[in-house]
Amino acid sequence: MNLHVVPAGPIQTNAYLLCEPARGEAVLIDAPGGVWPEIEAILASEKCRLVELWLTHGHWDHMQGAAQVVRATGAKTRGHAADRPMFETPEMMERFMGEHLGLKPVKIDGWLSQGERLAVLGTEFEVRHVPGHCPGNVLFYLLAAKSAFVGDALFRRGIGRTDLPGGDFEELERSIRTQIYSLPGTTIVYPGHGQSTTVAEEIGENPYVSG
Ligand SMILES: [Zn+2]
Repeated sequence: MNLHVVPAGPIQTNAYLLCEPARGEAVLIDAPGGVWPEIEAILASEKCRLVELWLTHGHWDHMQGAAQVVRATGAKTRGHAADRPMFETPEMMERFMGEHLGLKPVKIDGWLSQGERLAVLGTEFEVRHVPGHCPGNVLFYLLAAKSAFVGDALFRRGIGRTDLPGGDFEELERSIRTQIYSLPGTTIVYPGHGQSTTVAEEIGENPYVSG
């Protein structure tokens, strides 16, 4: 499987494209604004079609490009129901962003739940609910590669902000300890912004939530 990291949108949100050329299929994790042309080019060179779009959470910078991706590919969308208002009425986020972003709703085809296993691309992902940055943040743990795509729950030497509506520091701390720091230490953590890290590194070095 080939992983492509594609930062895009006004605040450089990471989109992660997982391609499995042997099956001709791909999955996209998060869809920042304007990401589609770059994703389309990678899919063409990998000879893969996008079968699913997974959203780590409902914040505007992770879903701004979702409607365009779905229109172009017909990919099945998945997200957590706790962020349903942001997926379905994203204009509510323009209030706390203080600007007009022209956000389009995204219809979620499959609601995710804690512990659910997703079998795609000939492999398996485990879904873990990691609220605190927002109510519906989930992570996708690729078991075979010990890789976790965590949205904005945890960053390299940082954590997600908890001052937005639905944010809660104590809840985020609990999510990180029970759902992320409990993964194998060698697990590569792919966050919604910035560089990747590992579980062991963050347990040892994260200044906000130490192990
Ligand atoms: Zn966020």
